[in-house]
Amino acid sequence: MKELPEAKLYIDGVVRRAEGDRTYDNICPWTAEVAGQAADASATDVLAAIAAARRAFDETDWSRQHTERHALVKKYMALLRENRERLVEISRIEAGAAIGAACRAHVDFALNGGDDLVECSKAIVWEEDRGSREEHGFVSERIVSHDPLGVVGAITPWNVPLYVNIGKVIAALLAGCTVVLKPAPDTPHMGAIMGELAVAAGLPPGVLNVVTSADPAMAGEMLVADPRVDVISFTGSTGVGRHIMEKGAATLKRIFLELGGKSVKIILEDAPDFAMKVMMSMVIFHAGQGCAYPTRLLVPRSRYQEAVEALQMSYAGYASRWGGYDDPENVMGPVISKRQQERVMAYIELGQQEGARLLAGGKTCPDKGKGFFIEPTCFVDVSNEMRIAQEEIFGPVLVVIPFEDDDDAIRIANDSVYGLGGAVTSGDRERAMRVARAIRAGCVSVNDGMSITGDLPFGGVKASGVGREWGREGIEEFLDTKAIAIRV
Ligand code: NAD
Repeated sequence: MKELPEAKLYIDGVVRRAEGDRTYDNICPWTAEVAGQAADASATDVLAAIAAARRAFDETDWSRQHTERHALVKKYMALLRENRERLVEISRIEAGAAIGAACRAHVDFALNGGDDLVECSKAIVWEEDRGSREEHGFVSERIVSHDPLGVVGAITPWNVPLYVNIGKVIAALLAGCTVVLKPAPDTPHMGAIMGELAVAAGLPPGVLNVVTSADPAMAGEMLVADPRVDVISFTGSTGVGRHIMEKGAATLKRIFLELGGKSVKIILEDAPDFAMKVMMSMVIFHAGQGCAYPTRLLVPRSRYQEAVEALQMSYAGYASRWGGYDDPENVMGPVISKRQQERVMAYIELGQQEGARLLAGGKTCPDKGKGFFIEPTCFVDVSNEMRIAQEEIFGPVLVVIPFEDDDDAIRIANDSVYGLGGAVTSGDRERAMRVARAIRAGCVSVNDGMSITGDLPFGGVKASGVGREWGREGIEEFLDTKAIAIRV
C-alpha cells in the first residue's frame, strides 16, 4: 500500500513540522502497517495555533469582510474539490474506507456539503432593522446584528474525517470565526490537507490552523481550557463530549457537541417490498462506523420470521463481497484500529452472553491479513433492554428487535439515551409521518428519504448532542446576537 507524505501542522499561515520535528506513525487499518508519519504537536505548537487564531480574529478584518471572506471560502472549497483524488486516497488509506464508501460518504458527500454551506451562507442576515421605538420619552432606532463568536476549537473524529472537518471548518469560516482544527490521531492526513490547501486558497494567516498529535486528549484539553478560545465544536463520543462540557464551564465556553447514536430503522408491516427493505438494512457501509447509522432494526412481530429469513439470505450473499481494497463496488473495509476491533468484538461476545442469537458473522478475519477486519454481523431475538441494543457499538453489527404495533415501535425507538437519526418505512405516507414525528431524534428518513445533506441541519437530542451542524443553522451556531439602539 502506498505511503502518505508526512502530515504537517498548519499554524499562522505556515505549513511546518512539529516542535523538535516530532512525528508519530499513522497506522493503516487495512494492513496494520505504517501508512505515513504525522506531526506530533507539542503544547507550544498548540499555544501558537491558538494565539494565531486569536490574533487573526481580533486584529484583522476577517470577521467583518463578509463578501471577500465568502469568495475566499468558496475558492478554498473549489481547491478541495480539485484535490478529490488525493482526498479519496487519504480516506482509503488512513480511515480504512472501501472505494465505494470513500467516494460517496467520505469525499463526494463532504465536498457537496461544503458547497452547500457556501450557498447557505448567502441567506445569513448580518444586520436586521428592528424599527424604532419610543421608550422613556425618547425614540431609538434599533438594529440586531449577528456577529461571529470568535475563535473556534474544532475537535473531530476519525470515522468520516473530511466530512466532519468540512462541516466545522467551512461553516465557522463562513460565519467569520477563526479556527484551530484538531483532527483525531488516527486521521491526521485529512486534517493536514485542509491546512495545505488553505495556503493554496490564500486564506489569511491564522484564520485556520491545524494541529495533529499522537495524544488523543492533550491538544483538545488545551483548546477547551484556554480562555482565548470562544467556542468548542466537538464531534466524537458521548463520554468525551460530556467531559468537554464540564471542563468548558470554567471559561463559560460556547460548546456544540455532535455525539454518538443508536439510531433505529422501523419497517412497518405494510412496507412495500418488505423483504427487500429488510435486506437493505445490513450494517455494512464503512463497517458500520457512522454516527447516525440505523443499527437497531425494528420489524413487526407479525412478519418477524420473514424478516429473519431475509436477513439470513442477505448476510449469506454478502459474506464474500466485502473487504477488497481495490474492488470499486466494495463499501466495507476494516474498522479503524486494533483498539476499535477489540471493542466491537467485546460487544459481539456480550450479545451472545446476553442471550441474543447470532444470525451472521461475529468473527475477525485473519484470512484477510493483519488488518482490523470484522465480519458483517447480525443479532436477532434482541430485546431493547440488552446492552447491545442500548450502547453504541460503532462497528458492522446490526441488532434486530420485534415490535407489536406502531406505538410499540415508537416506544422502543425512544427507549434510548441517544437521539441522532432514525428511519421509517411504510406503504402509507401519513402513517410513516406519524411515526417519524414521534421519534425523538435530530433527523428522520421516511421511505428512504435523504435526511442528511449539507443544506439541512444535522445534530442530536439527548445524549447524541447539543446544537446543529450543516445548513444555515450550522453556520448560525457560530454567530452571536447583538442589539444596537441609536437615539434619534
Ligand atoms: P472520541 O470521542 O474518542 O474522539 C473524538 C475527538 O476528541 C478526537 O479528535 C480525540 O482526539 C479528541 N479527544 C479525545 N479525548 C479528548 C479530551 N479529553 N479532550 C478533548 N478532546 C479529546 O471519538 P472517536 O472514537 O474519534 O469517534 C467515534 C465517535 O464519534 C462515536 O461515538 C461516533 O458516534 C461519534 N461521531 C458522532 C458524529 C455526529 O455528528 N454526531 C459524527 C461522527 C462521529
